[in-house]
Amino acid sequence: MARKLNFSSGPAALPEDVLRRAQAALLDLDGSGIGILEHSHRGPEFMRVLERTEAAIREVAGLDGAWAVLFVTAGATHHFSMVPQSFLGEDETADYCHTGVWSGKAMEEARRFGTVHVACSGEPDFTSTPRTQTWSTAPRYVHYTSNETIYGTQWAAPPHAPAPLVCDASSDIFSRPLDLVPHALIYAGAQKNLGPSGISLVLARKDFVESGRSDLPPLAQYRTYVTERSMYNTPNTFGIYVIGEVVSWIRAQGGLAALAERNDRKAAVLYDFLDQSRAWTPLAEKASRSRMNVTFRGATKELEETMLARAEERGLSGLRGHRSVGGLRASLYNAVPEDGIRRLVELLDEVERAAR
Ligand code: PMP
Repeated sequence: MARKLNFSSGPAALPEDVLRRAQAALLDLDGSGIGILEHSHRGPEFMRVLERTEAAIREVAGLDGAWAVLFVTAGATHHFSMVPQSFLGEDETADYCHTGVWSGKAMEEARRFGTVHVACSGEPDFTSTPRTQTWSTAPRYVHYTSNETIYGTQWAAPPHAPAPLVCDASSDIFSRPLDLVPHALIYAGAQKNLGPSGISLVLARKDFVESGRSDLPPLAQYRTYVTERSMYNTPNTFGIYVIGEVVSWIRAQGGLAALAERNDRKAAVLYDFLDQSRAWTPLAEKASRSRMNVTFRGATKELEETMLARAEERGLSGLRGHRSVGGLRASLYNAVPEDGIRRLVELLDEVERAAR
């Protein structure tokens, strides 16, 4: 079987080693004679999976005892409402940094529960991450999207905010070291850098979780995930298993600093090519460029379509830009190999030359 080079924005490429281990674990988890999908979530075999997954996450992210590691059986969208429902009172204000489609959806949900103050906005074209913000007087929290998957922009560092940060890190979690200090809660859908869709990882300060409403249904409170260790009901056992394998893989690669170096190199190869090209133009402003999702346009629609067709023939997949932006998008998550970027650049160059 020839596997394609997968540049999809998510669900996305996962490390091949992890997929092979998961393939074996479907039939037999850790020599138990029972597959991961078939094990009771309360049995010792799965408890070991949960423990080693949490331990690997704590080690890789550098979390101390003040932080909880939670697995929520839903994607990142779930947290767009779960966060304000838990933490934003009717008469309170939360500040939101508006950098694109995902922050827009998060704000829409927050408005159901309290007041949203837009502290900064990259509107209308969202090609950059706003350099200045105007905070409200006493925000309950400040929400930002560390990486905008669709527009291809990324915060170089978390915003300097007057309140605890809540971060949607779905598309760049564990792609670089995390600055935990200003954060209260970080959530991420797993289907880019972590594992399968339909499950999210939440890193949360326990004191922040404790400050949330306690009169909501159990699964709407982060508190329940902390006290029940994400096992109030049957969790997504397979998702947790895969996340554990991916994070162990990250550790074996040298951890987040090593991955950040590799990811910087990967993105630089592509951006350097695009910057010198006369046919291809990157969409995001230089200082705001994402290392995870590189968005760019061709000189003509025909050139873009030719490139997409050639890419499919060569086994390079998932390069069509999001429909709201157009053009092309190459997602360079942790599992996309450096050599894959070289092949992509070669083909972009070849298509450009052929069109001259
Ligand atoms: N936030 C960001 C930054 C995303 O990229 C995505 C998905 N692409 C989401 C939220 C939504 O994730 P889900 O579909 O898992 O709810």
